[in-house]
Amino acid sequence: MRIDHDIVIAGGGVAGATAAALLAQSGHRVALIDRQRPKDLDPSSDFDPRVVAIAPGSAAALDAAGAWERLPAERLGPYDRMQVHADGGEIVFRASEHGLAQLGWIVEVPWLQACAWQALAGVDGVELIAPAGVKDFSQREDHVRIERDDGKTLRARLLVAADGARSRLRQMAGIETEMWHYNQQALVCHVATERPNDGIAWQRFTEHGPLALLPLADGRSSIVWSQPERRVAELTALDEAAFLAELNCCLDSPFGEATSATRRYGFPLIRRQAKRLVSGRLVLLGDAARNVHPLAGQGLNLGLMDAAALAEVLADWTGDDDPARILRHYDRWRMSGGSLVAGGIHAINEFTRAGPGRALAGVGFSVAGRLWPLREAFVEHACGLDRDSPKLARSAR
Ligand SMILES: Cc1cc2nc3c(=O)[nH]c(=O)nc-3n(C[C@H](O)[C@H](O)[C@H](O)COP(=O)(O)OP(=O)(O)OC[C@H]3O[C@@H](n4cnc5c(N)ncnc54)[C@H](O)[C@@H]3O)c2cc1C
Repeated sequence: MRIDHDIVIAGGGVAGATAAALLAQSGHRVALIDRQRPKDLDPSSDFDPRVVAIAPGSAAALDAAGAWERLPAERLGPYDRMQVHADGGEIVFRASEHGLAQLGWIVEVPWLQACAWQALAGVDGVELIAPAGVKDFSQREDHVRIERDDGKTLRARLLVAADGARSRLRQMAGIETEMWHYNQQALVCHVATERPNDGIAWQRFTEHGPLALLPLADGRSSIVWSQPERRVAELTALDEAAFLAELNCCLDSPFGEATSATRRYGFPLIRRQAKRLVSGRLVLLGDAARNVHPLAGQGLNLGLMDAAALAEVLADWTGDDDPARILRHYDRWRMSGGSLVAGGIHAINEFTRAGPGRALAGVGFSVAGRLWPLREAFVEHACGLDRDSPKLARSAR
């Protein structure tokens, strides 16, 4: 029987493309399939609304994948301070107090994806298949048969589903998913402020929901403001001046008032958690495994930790060995890491929806800010540097 690849990855978003690079480095023959090839990007274009906070551990994974060095410096917004406020209290983290140069970087998703694909082009053992989707698959004793929507068929030892939050492969495998509709959307746009944001990731729990200002490389901030769906619809329909007035009512930031805003977009917020990450020779990774509320900026970071963890557990696997034991390890490892983060984020979001919850959170932040071991543990975890993180991520320290 002809086996085309050791590993086929369905979904070439940032998580899938990074996994492809890291797995190929261990000598695995990898195919990455996506319905769309990333577009060529213009460094002089305005910033895309889809930006993410990338932690140092995730940057190390992107670096090992060859993607990080390709990002133009003028698209990278580093931050060395993080300030979180709730009614009557705040907590401030500084990178230098934790032996770090940065706590993270704000980067556009399309740039990350394009750089990850560029890094894969021409790599030995990697085949990039796009545009083409995975239509169906069936598991055999020692391989997976994959049907593409262009009528072609592939055989691989493993199939990785990195096909995003509404993963069709996850559904086809019959993996159940816990879902939680927040009835909220994240309102996203970029704003200029009276003073430039020179490297602070700032967040405030407002009466309408968490509001974050994240530094872009040009001194503006990207805002992510999670609010009830109806209010997001109202705010996106306002003209710029009326929107700025609403925003400035809730903004008490170190950068002063917002003075201009780009077009606003609303992203529906749903928490999903697959009940298992492995089914036979199918492995879930990235948003296909779980997706979380954006308030802690962890979604893609979790996906990149999945990619690094999968590469780590499969480093010595030869395609001929039965992968069951190795994949059980991946399942347990990433289920526990992902669930802890997702559960914590969910609890904070729910708790701070009401005024008394926000007031208590404020007190909690002030107290926690004085407990050094707690702060250190939080920073290590959020930055992907704790003992549970893949070795590759921990090398960032
Ligand atoms: C408002 C907002 C703010 C956020 N902020 C942060 C943040 O600060 N930090 C952070 O870490 N995360 C953040 N996130 C989460 C982050 O954006 C996602 O976790 C991440 O982009 C998911 O990447 P992925 O590669 O897993 O999936 P996706 O980016 O969804 O990629 C899936 C890919 O699969 C392809 N595909 C789908 N079906 C098929 C098929 N059948 N065959 C082949 N290909 C297929 C698609 O074309 C796509 O390219 C945020 C999310 C939102 C909404």
